Amino acid sequence: MSLFPQRFIDDVRLQANIMQVIQEYVPLKRAGKSYKGVCPFHSERTPSFHVDPEKGFFHCFGCQAGGDVFKFIEQYEKVSFQDAVRILARKFGLTIPEQGDDASDDARGDASLREALLKVHEAAAGYFREELAKPLGERARKQLADRRVDSKTIERLGLGYAPGVPTGLKAHLLEAGFSQSLLLQSGLILQRDNGEVVDRFRNRLIVPISRDTGSVVAFGGRAMDDAQVPKYLNSPETPIYSKGRILYGLNLTKSVIRQNRYAVLVEGYFDFAQVFQAQAAPVVATCGTALTQQQAQLLRRFTTKIVLCYDPDAAGKGAAARSCELLVTEGFDVNVAELDQGQDPDTFIQRHGPEQYRERLRRSRPYLEYLLDQTARGLDFRLDQQKRELLNRMLPVVNLLPNEAARDQFGEKVAFKAKITDEVVRSAFRKLAVKKRPGLGASDLPGLGALKKAERELICGLFHNTAQALAALDQLDTVDLEHLGAREIFELARTLHDEQPDVLPSALLQRLSIEDAQLVTRIAASTSRPAPPLECAHALRRLRLEREGAAIQREIDRLQELGAGQHEEEIDLRWQRKTDLRHRIEELT
Ligand SMILES: [Zn+2]
Repeated sequence: MSLFPQRFIDDVRLQANIMQVIQEYVPLKRAGKSYKGVCPFHSERTPSFHVDPEKGFFHCFGCQAGGDVFKFIEQYEKVSFQDAVRILARKFGLTIPEQGDDASDDARGDASLREALLKVHEAAAGYFREELAKPLGERARKQLADRRVDSKTIERLGLGYAPGVPTGLKAHLLEAGFSQSLLLQSGLILQRDNGEVVDRFRNRLIVPISRDTGSVVAFGGRAMDDAQVPKYLNSPETPIYSKGRILYGLNLTKSVIRQNRYAVLVEGYFDFAQVFQAQAAPVVATCGTALTQQQAQLLRRFTTKIVLCYDPDAAGKGAAARSCELLVTEGFDVNVAELDQGQDPDTFIQRHGPEQYRERLRRSRPYLEYLLDQTARGLDFRLDQQKRELLNRMLPVVNLLPNEAARDQFGEKVAFKAKITDEVVRSAFRKLAVKKRPGLGASDLPGLGALKKAERELICGLFHNTAQALAALDQLDTVDLEHLGAREIFELARTLHDEQPDVLPSALLQRLSIEDAQLVTRIAASTSRPAPPLECAHALRRLRLEREGAAIQREIDRLQELGAGQHEEEIDLRWQRKTDLRHRIEELT
């Protein structure tokens, strides 16, 4: 149920240009009347994601995702319809109305809590920045200077300092009018076992963590002294912050990433800071943990080519290896750049400068080749047993490869390396790869099969021949729609009858469930030329009349079984009705 008045939703729909919205997430290229790009909802290399700006919908021929601009935001940002409306309204500068009394308290509460948490974080970020500039922040400023982080970078990253006092931030925020319970929910202050309520971050260098839109949603705090544990302390998960869904620094580098068509993925805040400051490459950071699927999806909005940059010992192991594997599985092109032993991008750039760093990036190699070399190191391929060893260690990697061509290609490399014949490697690879994760085939999708041809064509007509399709729908009676799979879609379309034909498709999509919208966009995006809407309507009525005719025939059969003589009158009556039906059917043809 919508909490906003329909009039407001309609306004947003008219303002929110679907091309403009989707293009921020997916690079699109013109393809005839529509635009296409790489689908953000499934892994693919060849674009099958289409946007029809004129009709206001998107559709993916690969995974069947589809819908209008609201459905895109709902599915992409994983938010409710309400939030999608809100996001778009804000983006296009519409004033969001006070929500009506029928709004559920929960939904209203969630949204206003998130809103309030964002405000708290903004205020806290300001406090930390000011503290860094004060005399007490001197040691923190010196540490940044020692790390060669200059004042411009400090400002761009919004770096700050949490002084070593127990309630500095708490007092500041309470004074600014935030309630203690909100501060507790923000995770910026915490309650100790003895009941005392104190700042989470004390005597730490503060790094604000932002969404890619720029709003600060969490903080990372680095220890000032060696004795301080942990070395890095992060905000806890809150209604506005989920660690696995954010990439550090993306808010600052997303447009450079898009322009350059690749991103360098580093591990820490200071790796990011150094690469960013030196403008050495378009960079984002994972902050120490392995990349999550959501982060990969976030990256995909901007690029599908990633260079990971690690210490030579780290790349094959732990979080780094898991990130690489995830990216390969998700269909990214992944390269690995090797730095010198014991170095990270932060220390490397400080020592050798950005030009050398870029040179390392240029010399980066595809992850799998890199892995192969790492594994082959120290093996002696004059020995059969060691050849087998390499093959066995490479087998699990094969499952990451998206298709047979890629597996064969990689097989050749392994064969060359281990001096085994291609065939041996390839057959081993293929055997293993038979049971690869199956994609969702079009036939697995519910719905389409249940629709009759005329239903599908009439739906298509609603998009491409709107006025006629509406007129055709008007000719149908409720009873004509009764047994149809698309009944709800048609009934909804009939209620939208007063809309201008050119906005009907998006008005319809907005009101459908995600599943129905997918079904509808899938039909609307299909290229086959539909029959004229009136013909479809006639076909649907004919189906209904034929169904009635068949029911009457069943009654006649039953009466005749009971004894034609006794039931003559009833049988005659039914024959009469059946003849009428036949005439009506003939009139339609
Ligand atoms: Zn898709």
